[in-house]
Amino acid sequence: MKRILLIGTGGTIASELTDSGLVPGLNSEQLLSYIPDIGRICHIDCIQLFALDSTNITPEHWQIIVRCIREHYDDYDGFVLTHGTDTLAYTAAALSYMIQDSPKPIILTGAQKPIHFDSTDSKMNLMDAFLCATEELPGVSIVFDHKIILGTRAKKTRSKSFSAFSSINYPELGVVRDGTLLRFVRQECGQAPVFYESLNTAVSLMKLVPGMNRDVLDFLFAKNDAVVVESFGVGGVPEAGGFYDCIEEWKKRGRFAILTTQVENEGSDLGVYHVGYRLKRNLGVLEAYDMTTEAVLAKLMWILAQTKDPEKVMNQFYTPVAMDMFPCFNSQNLACKD
Ligand code: ASP
Repeated sequence: MKRILLIGTGGTIASELTDSGLVPGLNSEQLLSYIPDIGRICHIDCIQLFALDSTNITPEHWQIIVRCIREHYDDYDGFVLTHGTDTLAYTAAALSYMIQDSPKPIILTGAQKPIHFDSTDSKMNLMDAFLCATEELPGVSIVFDHKIILGTRAKKTRSKSFSAFSSINYPELGVVRDGTLLRFVRQECGQAPVFYESLNTAVSLMKLVPGMNRDVLDFLFAKNDAVVVESFGVGGVPEAGGFYDCIEEWKKRGRFAILTTQVENEGSDLGVYHVGYRLKRNLGVLEAYDMTTEAVLAKLMWILAQTKDPEKVMNQFYTPVAMDMFPCFNSQNLACKD
């Protein structure tokens, strides 16, 4: 029988109703007691790392999770991490960079309703997660509402429905139907995991709104090594407001600007319009292409902990990790052609 480690971190799945709203209170053993039949498909050990609403999760928590998986990696066939849904996509992206090439499944799950509610998605998500953790499903993925989504491609797209997560610009890996895994995509499997614990958290995000000027961007560049600008459409910055000069000035001071888009699907293509073209051609600004914002932020934290050399940062940023971007998008191929 396969051995799976359940790692609890809190979230709605483990929450109890209090006078001031839902608060994570159940530990991983208590969660398991709601799905007693699971003992028929795998042997499970439990660890409780935190009891946090995932709003409170930080990169330090990601490091603790990675350390926990690293310490127990050889003793188990797979890992299930229960986590709040609000920042689950960020954690999934971060773990995808911090634990690369894992031949064993690292499954993240959670729920929109606590496990003790009459109507809850907790039990099915947990059962599906264990089922997937016993399969050949290498690397980091999210199992939620019967869907399996690659860790680098997930986004929370519904705040209330059970179908909380979508796979962005990439197909779902599969679905769990009546307790059976139906696989649509088979990921590449590494030989052995490579663990990274260092992160550079001086990475920030600015959402562009019409009529804005450079003040917020200046502030963020002053405090960070990299700023991701969530711009409009396929990407660009307004001609008014001083954004171009701002990016140029901070680039000279060693900061990195990365353009992405507020549009959920299909990604950026900075070379298409003049408002983006000049950033890319003249200033060498990086762009996210088809990556999620969550993945871009986590990837930069991972890269900038290793190097701040612009050439190396660019090469590493455009090198796909865990299928976070399509390989046709690279620095030589500025506008991806069919
Ligand atoms: N606020 C909760 C959390 O992210 C929401 C959830 O788990 O669904 O921890």
